[in-house]
Amino acid sequence: MRRFAAMSDPLVDPMMDGAIVDCLVVGGGPAGLTAALYLARYHLDVLVLDAGDSRAALIPLSRNHAGYPEGITGTDLLARMGQQAMLYGAQILPARVDALAREDDGFIATAGARHWRARSVLLATGVINNRPTMPKPLHDDALARGLIRYCPICDGYEVTDKRVGVIGTGDHGVREALFLRSYTADLALIAPDGRHDLDPAQRHQLQDAGILVVEGTTPVYEIAGGGITVGGRVYDSLYPALGSQIRSELAGPVGVEMAGGGCLAVDSHQRTNVPGLYAAGDVVLGLDQISHAMGEGGVAATTMRNDLAKRQSLFRAVPEPVKAAAQ
Ligand SMILES: Cc1cc2nc3c(=O)[nH]c(=O)nc-3n(C[C@H](O)[C@H](O)[C@H](O)COP(=O)(O)OP(=O)(O)OC[C@H]3O[C@@H](n4cnc5c(N)ncnc54)[C@H](O)[C@@H]3O)c2cc1C
Repeated sequence: MRRFAAMSDPLVDPMMDGAIVDCLVVGGGPAGLTAALYLARYHLDVLVLDAGDSRAALIPLSRNHAGYPEGITGTDLLARMGQQAMLYGAQILPARVDALAREDDGFIATAGARHWRARSVLLATGVINNRPTMPKPLHDDALARGLIRYCPICDGYEVTDKRVGVIGTGDHGVREALFLRSYTADLALIAPDGRHDLDPAQRHQLQDAGILVVEGTTPVYEIAGGGITVGGRVYDSLYPALGSQIRSELAGPVGVEMAGGGCLAVDSHQRTNVPGLYAAGDVVLGLDQISHAMGEGGVAATTMRNDLAKRQSLFRAVPEPVKAAAQ
């Protein structure tokens, strides 16, 4: 007989402060919302706490997300995913979790003065791209117009044979520039603060690939000339290659092991080393893409369900009329 909290029980309404839920999902991006959909359809009660700044929300129009031949905006995709998860009973609350702790055989998450208890938790908190130094309104305007782009895998196709600059240096900058070279021959690697950190071998590599190395002055950006200008040169798009901050801060205090670059380490079923705690999406080392985040969300949800089933029966109660008929 199933003993987990039921959504219909007002005493354990997951929207209520201090409630106990089967599954708490921290983060309402593609990874977290896919997991929430699966978990709700496994008849588990699921609460998503989301701070509301998914990287996907920055996508003006995604053209590489399968199933949308005319493209889909990030905000539209997130809204559809949220609706779909809620259709099956997932609850989504705007809240930034500021602490996660273990208690008994579960977890307690707090956001300001509020707290929620959960038997299992999925961290789907994503990453934040480091931005080039420029005023925020200029950055946001350029991003919306496709003058600044963050994901060559996603939208390199859109800059085919265009004038492109990569803002970056070192290994990361060189790698990104070489990747983009298969989309365009008009490519420059721009030193983010005026000075490159490139060894002679890297300079040769760039030269051989026909990539211009721009340095000497701190870049000043302006939307002008039908594109975005840096040091008098007009680009159709700039790709910052400045790394990112992994939103893994909730994981450290509960003892989660880290993988490369500060991402959370998981097994092939999205389990962290902490029993009952899972991770999916960009916060885990892997391809930072919507499809990948969704895939990991589905795997994580299924593992959460199966692990919960080992701890307690998830069998549904026999409906009363059937019970009565059998007697
Ligand atoms: C400009 C841009 C364009 C892109 N274009 C594409 C594209 O065309 N195709 C593609 O496949 N990918 C694209 N991507 C990448 C894609 O957006 C990400 O891979 C995807 O959003 C990752 O999903 P996620 O759920 O792991 O993380 P996110 O979407 O970043 O969601 C994480 C969520 O967790 C929440 N959160 C974080 N910390 C907390 C906390 N403590 N408490 C509560 N909530 C928290 C955040 O508010 C956020 O809502 C693009 C990215 C950018 C920036």
